[in-house]
Amino acid sequence: MNQQPASVPSTFEPGLRLTYGYGTDRGLRRELNEDSYIASDPVFAVADGMGGHEAGEVASGICVRALAAIPQLATGERSVTAAVLQQYLVRADSSIREATGARAGTTLTGAVVVEQMGMPYWLVMNIGDSRTYRLSKGRFERISVDHSEVQELVDAGEITAEEATVHPRRHVVTRALGTGDETEADFWLLPVEEGDRVLVCSDGLTGELSDADVLRILSTVGDPQDAADTLIQAALRNGGSDNVTVIVVDARNVLNDAGTATTTAPRQRAGVEEADTLPREQAAEASTRPLPQQDGEPAEDRSGESHDGRH
Ligand code: MN
Repeated sequence: MNQQPASVPSTFEPGLRLTYGYGTDRGLRRELNEDSYIASDPVFAVADGMGGHEAGEVASGICVRALAAIPQLATGERSVTAAVLQQYLVRADSSIREATGARAGTTLTGAVVVEQMGMPYWLVMNIGDSRTYRLSKGRFERISVDHSEVQELVDAGEITAEEATVHPRRHVVTRALGTGDETEADFWLLPVEEGDRVLVCSDGLTGELSDADVLRILSTVGDPQDAADTLIQAALRNGGSDNVTVIVVDARNVLNDAGTATTTAPRQRAGVEEADTLPREQAAEASTRPLPQQDGEPAEDRSGESHDGRH
């Protein structure tokens, strides 16, 4: 028998338990769903293809299949690094160019659960304007920073974050895989905290819902699959103008420094501080400023039940 006794913790499987839910919807206006995703411990990622005439679908599909080829996916090892991810993304970039003649591209964002010195981390990656968020100890943060024209205008102080959401060029990305000159991903490394909930989504979600809408659903719907379904339904009710893809990942039973699981007390923070890995403005905005409420928000959205199909 090659099974380990249950009482012996495996090197690669600490107490950390991930539960997750996911879904995708073509939306109400698009003929095709050009989003692709992978939700398979330890890789959770969304790719939003662009190019039309099925080329976008090809691009996002190639990207996700490239990630699926990472050996750690088969073994469940939490030993993926940013360098390894970057290798697979370079491979995806050239495969997309070959397959589509550089006429199609894709965004990519997501989180890979990795382990360093026995501690679990979210290794977050991003190219383009799909997004990775984290709800951690009551704080809701957008981890990824969009590679988009409007994000550049916001960074330059020319428009506000709110103006960016309605700007005519809000869909123009400045980095993508498979097209253009800028194909490098940004990476962040964040310690996994007990009770963390990570959201990975395409802009079909964030184009329809404010961060406040998203937070309300994430913080009121317990089951990750129900949360993913509720987010998608809310985006469809708000117009569903784009393909919408959502992954929700919950972390439980996070090991503390002594190697024992804790479910009630926060563990000691590991050596990597969030302040080091998050752009300052981003972190301050997400953690200290009250999230704006949208006008005329229907109260029944709070329940997370899908009882308003009549809309
Ligand atoms: Mn999209």
